Order: sequence, then structure tokens, then C-alpha cells
Amino acid sequence: MRNYELLRNWMVDTQLIPRGIKDKRVLEVMRKVPRHLFVPEKYRDDAYDDMALPIGEGQTISQPYMVAIMTELLELTGVEKVLEIGTGSGYQAAILAELAKEVYTIERIEALGENVREKLREMGYNNIYVVVADGSKGLPEKAPFDRIIITAATPKIPLCLTEQLNEGGIIVAPVGQRFSQVLIKAKKVKGILKEEYHTPCVFVPLIGEHGWKE
Ligand code: SAH
Repeated sequence: MRNYELLRNWMVDTQLIPRGIKDKRVLEVMRKVPRHLFVPEKYRDDAYDDMALPIGEGQTISQPYMVAIMTELLELTGVEKVLEIGTGSGYQAAILAELAKEVYTIERIEALGENVREKLREMGYNNIYVVVADGSKGLPEKAPFDRIIITAATPKIPLCLTEQLNEGGIIVAPVGQRFSQVLIKAKKVKGILKEEYHTPCVFVPLIGEHGWKE
């Protein structure tokens, strides 16, 4: 049994701060949320290493740095209603829920979604709503959102998501080719997305109506 709290602090001090993550609230939750509980048991001791890990169904939990930078780019203050597309392990959703008012997270693979719903309930999160559906269409029945984060690679930001975002809201997403993307932060100003380009990255694909075909 490893000392996971020590590993978490080591992760923040060696992987996040040296690479420029500055938001104090983001660093604080990365020191707090037990990432090892979001990975399959056999990977627990690797949970704080500098990499993505398999979570079953051919999917992955993102590298800690990627979770941190995407969260920082969302500029959460505590009052926001957030939509996450790509629940995966539920780790990013838990990080968001610590920093925002409420989080709707969509997963297309039922087994992953069910598992996360159960886990988050056990962990005591009561401001995260897990929905099993094609998230490339967003979640119109709960729109508008203040923030949208896509944690799967997308060929472009689907127009329907811009429509489901409040004015002044922010979308963060890995946009590009199927096997290589750039992290984009886009702010909705007068109805139009103003895009900023950040780090290159590699995510598993968004599969669905406005993503890639299976
Ligand atoms: N945020 C996750 C990592 C996500 S991996 C975490 O913290 O662990 C990407 C996830 O997006 C996968 O679980 C995949 O099944 C899911 N996904 C892919 N296409 C999707 C779609 N159209 N709608 C919802 N989820 C999708």
C-alpha cells in the first residue's frame, strides 16, 4: 500500500508546477482528489505517473498534466454549470465538480457511465450528473452551460455546442486529426467563438454524429 497523498503532492510538484500550471485552486484540487480510485485496481500504484492509463473498453484516463491544463483554461470560479463530453473514468468530472457549481458529464459507453455514476455516489459527489448518450450533440435539455469541455479528440467544435454555451462562456477541446490534436480554448463573444491554441495532444476519438464514425 503506497502513500497516495505523498504521490499526489509529488505529481503536482514535479509534473504540474514546472510545466506552468499556476491556478492555485486547480493545484489544490489536484493535490486532493484521489486519482488512484479512478483507475483499475492493477494500475493504482501508477495513477500519479506522468501518463494516461487504460480504463477498459479501449478508453483512457488522461495524463494528470492534461487534466490540469484543461481545467485551468476553463477559468472556473465556483458558480459555473459545466458540460463534460467523455466521462471515461470520472476523474476529470470530479476535479471539475470541486471547482464549479454543477457538472453534467456524458459518456457513450454505458458500462463506463454506470460504473462512474456508482463510484461518484460512493465518494459523496452530489453535484455531478452522469448521462449515457452521444455527447457530440451536447445536452440540449440542460443547456445553456457556462463551460464545455470535450475530453475526446474532435475534428471540429460542433456548432450545436456553441449554441448550448452562454455568451462569455468557454469551450476547451482537443481539435484536429484522429491521432493528433491541438488543445483549443474558445470563448463565445457576441455569439462567435474566439479561439486560442495551446499544447499539442493525443486523445481517443469522439465517436458520434458530430465526431468520427465508429
Ligand atoms: N475525461 C475522462 C477521459 C476521457 S477518455 C477521464 O477523466 O477519465 C474519452 C471518453 O470519451 C471515452 O470514455 C469515450 O468512450 C468517450 N466518448 C467518445 N465519444 C463520445 C461521445 N460521442 N459522447 C460521449 N462520450 C464519448
